[in-house]
This record gives sequence, structure tokens and C-alpha cells, in this order.
Amino acid sequence: MSFTPEHTLFRDNVRAFVEREIAPHVNAWDEAQTFPRELYARAAQLGLLGLGYAEAYGGTPCDGWFKLIATEEIARAGSGGLMASLFSHNIGLPPIVAHGSDELKQRVVPDVLAGRKIAALAITEPGGGSDVARLTCKARRETGPDGDHWVIDGEKTFITSGMRADWFTLAVRTGSGGAAGISLIAVPGDTPGLQRAPLAKMGWWCSDTAHLRFEGCRVPAANLIGAENAGFRAIMENFNGERLLMSAGACCFAQVCYDEALAWARERKTFGAALVEHQVMRHKLMDMRMRIASTRAWLHALVERQERGDTGPEWVAELCLLKNHATQTMQWCADAAVQTLGGMGFMRGLKSERIYREVKVMMIGGGAEEIMKELAARQLGV
Ligand SMILES: Cc1cc2nc3c(=O)[nH]c(=O)nc-3n(C[C@H](O)[C@H](O)[C@H](O)COP(=O)(O)OP(=O)(O)OC[C@H]3O[C@@H](n4cnc5c(N)ncnc54)[C@H](O)[C@@H]3O)c2cc1C
Repeated sequence: MSFTPEHTLFRDNVRAFVEREIAPHVNAWDEAQTFPRELYARAAQLGLLGLGYAEAYGGTPCDGWFKLIATEEIARAGSGGLMASLFSHNIGLPPIVAHGSDELKQRVVPDVLAGRKIAALAITEPGGGSDVARLTCKARRETGPDGDHWVIDGEKTFITSGMRADWFTLAVRTGSGGAAGISLIAVPGDTPGLQRAPLAKMGWWCSDTAHLRFEGCRVPAANLIGAENAGFRAIMENFNGERLLMSAGACCFAQVCYDEALAWARERKTFGAALVEHQVMRHKLMDMRMRIASTRAWLHALVERQERGDTGPEWVAELCLLKNHATQTMQWCADAAVQTLGGMGFMRGLKSERIYREVKVMMIGGGAEEIMKELAARQLGV
């Protein structure tokens, strides 16, 4: 892909933003297990939150390359937790944008794209995340003197931005068992009966991940996203966008590990020579580079196909496999970088150390490895 001058200018702007407003603070934010809420508004001012959304809701329509560039540049700060929370709207909003009523879109989307409100997606339950069709969190329709409502009871877990989200795109059971009985509902974060508890994690420390409990939560019937019992398909469509951006993020985190390892290998001397002068070290670096190059080429090929509208079952299968390949590349490079950094690689504050801890969630969230293979095989009729 040869990027246009507009792409390059955008990249420069995002890079400057990341160097100024994010990179110097990510270590402190990770240790504090949070980051300032004002960052959403700052990212919105630069147009980062609205990328790809319609102007009518405060967004900036753009091609897929702009989103890729934004992901690449934010990833340079080396914090997956920051990316996950700052952009949780990119998994929370798309079902509303694609299937919600105009009134619901106006109520939810502009505030989120302006960084005034935070959106999250709540699918996973304590009983399981991979088998979405069996989810049990329930919503029943109730008509009373105060109008039509959904009354929600159940639990969700591992929800990104779960502690401070103002809107949850919530998957609920509204019908019979299986995929055909699932709906999506937009639930305001201040709904009475919603309780949240933070979860302590291996990585993504600055991201607020929460367990949610819904007890008799009443939301207006108009908050239904799309048709009743048609939520499963919307959830599956939404996964494609998430998996593409996760693959882009994983590829960039691998690159960050390579850059850090190379800089260290040039600097660090052992046995009278810089590490990079030892052949085995050069080979390790080239193995990293080889994996990153192949991942990036595949990623770009899939973005190119998406831009052409070529997103049939074969594309979906490739995307599932790319997510596995990209996260394996990230894992391999994080391991190689920490090894190259020696004891220093085990110290908090290095990007490679953080990425090493963060890779596991990339291999589980948004569809775990095993599920990606199953889905790919099914799409290909294998
Ligand atoms: C930090 C973090 C943030 C997250 N953010 C969100 C969020 O914002 N919203 C949200 O809804 N969810 C979120 N998740 C949840 C995530 O999507 C799930 O963890 C994931 O889908 C896997 O579900 P599970 O943890 O219930 O594992 P399970 O479904 O119990 O699976 C456990 C293991 O078994 C494997 N497995 C399952 N079934 C099969 C099978 N048939 N064959 C072979 N292997 C199988 C899985 O691949 C996995 O390795 C987040 C998770 C984490 C850790």
C-alpha cells in the first residue's frame, strides 16, 4: 500500500499527539490502574474517536487505512490497556450505528465521539464467552404506567471500560435458547440496579475491566438495538471490526518490541562487543522482523480487500487466521525482546515487559485462538 499525503499528514499528527500526551505517562497510568478521563476529549479533538463514523453523529468518514494508521501510532506508546479502554467505543458503538434507530443513535453516538461519554460492549458472562449463543443474561418486556421497558437480570464479566462506561451495548436473552433468542440493548451506565466491580489483571492495568450485575434494571423499550432476537448476527458482524484492529495492534506491538530490542542490542556490550555484533542476536532480530513483515503484509492485504468490499466468508476466515498469526507474532517478538534485554527486560517500565504481559489477552479476547480456527474452518467449509 502506498499511503497518500493525507494519510501521512494524519500519521504525523497522531504521532505527535502520542509522543506529547500518551507516551510519557503510560507507565504511571499503568501503575495507577487508570488514565485521565480527559484523554477521551483530547483524542476526540484530534478526530481519533470519530474515525469512520458518519458526520451526522460527529464522526469523520474515512477509509480503513486511517483507522490502521491511528492504531499503529497509538500502539507505539506500548500500552494495550490504554488502547482497549480509549477505543472501547469501537466495539460498543458499531451495533448501535448499524442497527439502532435514528433517535437512539442521536442519543448515544455524538457524546461518545466527542469524548464526553464512554461506550462499552458487554457480551461475555461468568458462564462463558466463546459460546455466545448460550448467554443467559435476561431481558423481559414490561408495559406499565411509565411506558414500555426492558427489565434486565443477569451478569457480565471481563468488560472493558466496565467501571466508567456511560453506555453498555448489552447482549441479552429475549427469546428461546440459542442464537435466535438474543437481542442487543443500549443500557445507560447510571441505570438503577446495575452494580460494577473492578477486576485485577495480568496486564492491561490502566484499562478498567469490570464485572457487572444487573438486578431488575429497567431501560426504555426504545433502547433495543435493531430487531428483537436479531442480536446474534449483529454481534458476529461486530467481531470482524474488532479482530482487524486487534490484529493491527498486535502487529504494531511486535514492532515496538523489535525497536526496543534493536536499540538495546546496539547499546549493550557483552564480552567486549555490542550485543548486535553477536550473530545469534542478529538472527533473533531478523526472525522478529520476518514475522512482523509477513503479518503486516497479510494485514494490508485484508484491509485492501475490505476497501474493495470483498468481505465474504473467505475474507472472514482469513481475518480469524490473521488474528491468530498477529497475536502469535506479538507473543514471539515480546519473548525475544525480553530475552534480548536480559534482566532489564524483566523490569517494570519497559515496553517489552508490558507487552509480554499483555499478549495473552490478545490471544483470548475478541475470540480465542481455538474459536478463531473453528470459525475459519467453518467459513471455508472445511
Ligand atoms: C482483559 C479482558 C478484556 C475483555 N473485554 C471484553 C469486553 O469488553 N466485552 C466482552 O464482552 N468480553 C470481553 N472480554 C472477554 C473475552 O472476549 C472472553 O474472555 C473470550 O471470548 C473467551 O471467553 P471465556 O473467557 O469465557 O473463555 P471460555 O469460553 O470459557 O473458553 C476457555 C478456553 O477454552 C477454549 N474453548 C472454548 N470452547 C472450545 C471448543 N469448542 N473447542 C476448543 N477450545 C475451546 C477457548 O478458546 C479458551 O481458550 C475480555 C476479556 C479480558 C481478559
